[in-house]
Amino acid sequence: MAEFTMELNDEQKEVRDWLHGFAADVIRPAAAEWDEREETPWPVIQEAAKVGIYSLDFYAQQYFDATGLGIPMAMEELFWGDAGIALSIVGTGLAAVGVLANGTEEQIGTWIPQMYGDANDVKVAAFCSSEPDAGSDVASMRTRAVYDEAKDEWVINGTKTWATNGGIANVHVVVAVVDPDLGSKGHASFIIPPGTPGCSQGQKFKKHGIRASHTAEVILDNVRVPGSCLLGGKEKLDERLARAREKAKKGGERVKNAAMATFEASRPAVGAMAVGTARAAYEVALEYATTREQFGRPIIDNQGVAFQLADMRTQIDAARLLVWRASWMAVNGKPFTAAEGSMSKLFASETAKKVTAQAIQILGGNGYTREYPVERMHRDAAIYTIFEGTSEIQRLVIARTLSGMPIR
Ligand SMILES: Cc1cc2nc3c(=O)[nH]c(=O)nc-3n(C[C@H](O)[C@H](O)[C@H](O)COP(=O)(O)OP(=O)(O)OC[C@H]3O[C@@H](n4cnc5c(N)ncnc54)[C@H](O)[C@@H]3O)c2cc1C
Repeated sequence: MAEFTMELNDEQKEVRDWLHGFAADVIRPAAAEWDEREETPWPVIQEAAKVGIYSLDFYAQQYFDATGLGIPMAMEELFWGDAGIALSIVGTGLAAVGVLANGTEEQIGTWIPQMYGDANDVKVAAFCSSEPDAGSDVASMRTRAVYDEAKDEWVINGTKTWATNGGIANVHVVVAVVDPDLGSKGHASFIIPPGTPGCSQGQKFKKHGIRASHTAEVILDNVRVPGSCLLGGKEKLDERLARAREKAKKGGERVKNAAMATFEASRPAVGAMAVGTARAAYEVALEYATTREQFGRPIIDNQGVAFQLADMRTQIDAARLLVWRASWMAVNGKPFTAAEGSMSKLFASETAKKVTAQAIQILGGNGYTREYPVERMHRDAAIYTIFEGTSEIQRLVIARTLSGMPIR
């Protein structure tokens, strides 16, 4: 176990500087173009693959850094470059984590390489859980997977929505209901291999922000996948369902809370993305405030502007500390007794929204135009309080964890 530290070591600083260089030289200059095009920035993903930033190896290396700072440092730098492009680069990771968390060694070895492709032929993957009627309320998911024992195949039907890379992915990871009586404990995850009949893209969404990241519905119409596509395998699923049925008899609420807790460990990574966007907007605002003159002096000479910048930087640093703490806890297996993962995501995402709005204010009219990047950053920041659990859901998780009460 590593001690908690607020200092990056020399090796981490080297990685951070390398990522920052890529974010500054490749991602940031492309940000406005791909935001306007509202398309997946394939050439940028390919560049990232060439230098080794788009690969499971890279993220695994950061994840297994015992200080816990590898992933938040990487996310902050890439999202500092641009949130939409960075999500296009790290979005595949969501699906890869789904396989790593639940899959067998064979499934990991078979499917993860197909999610990334290679530098000459990059691919992306999608993780599909949300549905039109099941966003925060994951337990009301309807997509159904039924086992066809005679053929050792699963038949999947349903509609997924808001899937990052949905429909353009080489590999989709789909969460579906296998036992409707067990709420979220009756769910299982499936691989949908490339080119599977019945799996198609529905509506592609035109979004407020992170427009370089592709978000779409995924239609599953009598999709048949081999038994080997059930992540973790049938035997493990049957054991898990039997345990869940036993637990459900003792108290359904406890089953629901346990499901919420599993997201705790991934939330600091989203917090780190928000810190990256907030820091980017703060830096633009600081630079602008020291150079823009009104009434014969730089606008930062006014306390009304300077104090805003002081608050912005204080909140960004506080957010980063919460993120680093939660990430260190996750990597070192510390129990989240106060929902510290949710705390970090809640505070960092709310900070990003606030700080990017303040940045627009400090840039005045220029801040409101697409000539300057803070307008885009503010649109991008709005996603952090929505995906991977809204701010309200984070507060619910924190309050339940602190009180032990089934607060609704
Ligand atoms: C750009 C984008 C990318 C996404 N990528 C993915 C992806 O790759 N894969 C995937 O599966 N999903 C993805 N999502 C879906 C995302 O996780 C959901 O949008 C999110 O979980 C919220 O669900 P919802 O939109 O249905 O909102 P709802 O759950 O309908 O919530 C609406 C409002 O009600 C509030 N609310 C709901 N329940 C409560 C409660 N109990 N107490 C207090 N307030 C409550 C919410 O906080 C929110 O303010 C993505 C979404 C977006 C916008």
